[in-house]
Amino acid sequence: MTPDALKELVRTVPDFPEAGIQFRDITTLIGNGPGLAATVNYLVEMARNAGAEAIAGMEARGFIFGAAVAVELELPFIPVRKPGKLPVDTIGVDYALEYGTDRLEIDPTSIADGQRIVIVDDLIATGGTAQAAVQLLRMAGGKVDDALFVIDLPDLGGAAKLAGADVSVSALMQFGGD
Ligand code: AMP
Repeated sequence: MTPDALKELVRTVPDFPEAGIQFRDITTLIGNGPGLAATVNYLVEMARNAGAEAIAGMEARGFIFGAAVAVELELPFIPVRKPGKLPVDTIGVDYALEYGTDRLEIDPTSIADGQRIVIVDDLIATGGTAQAAVQLLRMAGGKVDDALFVIDLPDLGGAAKLAGADVSVSALMQFGGD
């Protein structure tokens, strides 16, 4: 299945979660077995080419794709979590979203010093979430040079923001006009 065919499986929901947002819903993509498998296979090849030694995924949709990639490559999976979820001492970063604000936390002991970590998430919009994840993983000693997404919304500037933090962004598909 080509990336163009996978793009057809993404559902667009206007005005969710608030007026003016075109929500790119991956529920319909992961609800299609061959579509889910093809999406994961593309991400696996990208992560392999990036020399991943561990995969980090952001709660919650990053867990779906990130864990699948980690399993396929037999690599560790690092969950980047919403606040208050981890049962140990954490480090955290607050960040701005396309809509609202949020916070991400990790267990810093889950990362080996200098470990090459590749980030996987469903979508990059403003890049605030990914930038916070990069900051956190680097604080814990990880080497983060690559971030992989199913969907890029290039008009929101996320890839450019990550490039400014020396992180290369790759995505399977783009949606313009957001
Ligand atoms: P950002 O931090 O702005 O790059 O936003 C990234 C996260 O917010 C992604 O992990 C998405 O899950 C979610 N998100 C932001 N904008 C959208 C959108 N237009 N459609 C679907 N999900 C979105």
